[in-house]
Amino acid sequence: MSRRYTSFIRSLCLALIFSLGPLIVANYVLENFALQQAKQEARSIGERFITRSELTINEVVLELQSLETAGVVTCRRDHLDALREVVSKSAYMESIGIADASGKPMCLVPSRSLRGKPILTMLDDGAPLIGIGMTDQGYDSIKKAIISLRTPNGWRLFSEVSPLALNIEPGPEYLRGAVRTEVRLGPETIWATVGSLNLPEGESDTTIISQTSLSTWYPLVARVDINGYAALSLVGRLQIITAIVCATVAVLFLVIAVWYSWQPHNESEDEFVAAIKNNEFIPYYQPVIDIETGVLQGCEVLMRWRRENGEMVSPGQFMTYAETSGHIFEMTRRLMVQIIDEVGDLYEATPDLKISINLFAGHFKDRTIVEDVGELFQGSPIKLEQVVLEVTERQPLHDINAAKKIIAELQAMGVRIALDDVGTGHGGLAYLQKLGMDIVKIDKMFVDPLGQETSTARIADAIVELAENLGMGIIAEGVETYEQILHLRKLGVTAAQGYIFAAPLPGEAFLKFAEEHETGTRNIVAELDRNYEARQEEAQPAAAGS
Ligand code: C2E
Ligand code: CA
Ligand code: CA
Repeated sequence: MSRRYTSFIRSLCLALIFSLGPLIVANYVLENFALQQAKQEARSIGERFITRSELTINEVVLELQSLETAGVVTCRRDHLDALREVVSKSAYMESIGIADASGKPMCLVPSRSLRGKPILTMLDDGAPLIGIGMTDQGYDSIKKAIISLRTPNGWRLFSEVSPLALNIEPGPEYLRGAVRTEVRLGPETIWATVGSLNLPEGESDTTIISQTSLSTWYPLVARVDINGYAALSLVGRLQIITAIVCATVAVLFLVIAVWYSWQPHNESEDEFVAAIKNNEFIPYYQPVIDIETGVLQGCEVLMRWRRENGEMVSPGQFMTYAETSGHIFEMTRRLMVQIIDEVGDLYEATPDLKISINLFAGHFKDRTIVEDVGELFQGSPIKLEQVVLEVTERQPLHDINAAKKIIAELQAMGVRIALDDVGTGHGGLAYLQKLGMDIVKIDKMFVDPLGQETSTARIADAIVELAENLGMGIIAEGVETYEQILHLRKLGVTAAQGYIFAAPLPGEAFLKFAEEHETGTRNIVAELDRNYEARQEEAQPAAAGS
């Protein structure tokens, strides 16, 4: 659980990194792009204002020059008519007048007095050939540009220019209402302020993008300010889309993470495969004894999982998984290799010893087991004739004919086949005949009640009888008491295994057990017989005495 938890946390962090990372980067890139874009817009707006101002001034200067060329330089009636005609045709010239050398206006059309006070040098004698000045209108801080041209007589033709001249498109749609342009004459004097930034209430620290453009002809300066908020709206949608995409990625990651870390077998699967590779599945050996003579007949190999931490796990806890996952094939192969390695010498030296290896129903589906056994045991210290393969009756053999062929092939190689757990499972006694078994193993379930007058106890009798009729060998499993030995002897069963003789032993211990029995330094059956006789003798005087 805790590993799952850490794996989940790890995935959660990855999800955050993989979604927040791109989100931050994308936001940064988009915002930068929007600000750059706004800067460029500000520059081009400024340039448009400058161009428009220049064109307006040029137009006015040209008109004034053509008046001057035409000699319209006095306040005579016909000259005033000519001035009036020019004013009426021009879009931006509000009035035209003539000032004397001291700069005092002498006449103005349309006829009215020049309002506001001049701000810049404009009409006085010292002014340059072309003068640009300003009048402060005194209300709404409206200022009007005054363009003047010196005439040969030292007077000046001048024109008031309407601020409408600068009323031009402020910029692209998304910046409407967020651009303010100030056109100045000289560094200080504002000619016109167009648009407003519309800054949100109290948002004094809003980013403002500013660009300044200068005229190469006149002392004109256009300063354009853009509200940063509006500038960012260019990528607003993209930012939302990016956020949605990143959130989706994060959610996806999390779903995968949850799915992955809460997969029921994932972790154990990895662990299991690693355990196989590390040879953590090892053979234990349970001696099979002749209960008449005490001679060691061989052993049954029983798998154990010796985990890295030394813990021993019995097959009941992993065999179902090993079989359903298919790992059992590799595990069985590796088990055989280890067996040859551990007890090969003993078996080579003692050709009569048999070694039983457990298989499961899946091993009888195809010929792989035939090839594996052939490859591993042919030419090995353990001869094929010493090998017994156990087929359990607990699981059904789906394809009996295929199983039969495989069994026949194995038998042809010299291998013997034992039917394990007879009477407990699917095949019934029919398997015995159909599959051509060599050995029958009587399950502990039928050995336990031996000596009792129960129906289960009589099953052992039936199995033994059938096996003898079919000429098969018999091994009794799970023998725990001396009484069971006595009953087995009565039934004519000679081979047995069980805790009374020895539990499944690790390789070293089994080799020691085998050596003692081979050399005759020890005979477990003789020991049991002696113990039993001693107990009988002890009991008899007591019984006689009572
Ligand atoms: P099995 O083949 O019927 O093995 C006999 C089981 O009885 C073994 O359990 C053994 O330790 C236990 N046993 C032996 N003598 C006594 C006794 O006197 N009293 C009691 N109470 N138990 C005794 P184990 O080793 O836990 O194995 C359980 C089962 O796992 C085996 O039953 C077998 O079906 C399977 N198995 C073990 N090793 C392998 C293997 O390498 N491959 C396959 N496919 N299955 C295996
Ligand atoms: Ca077995
Ligand atoms: Ca068994």
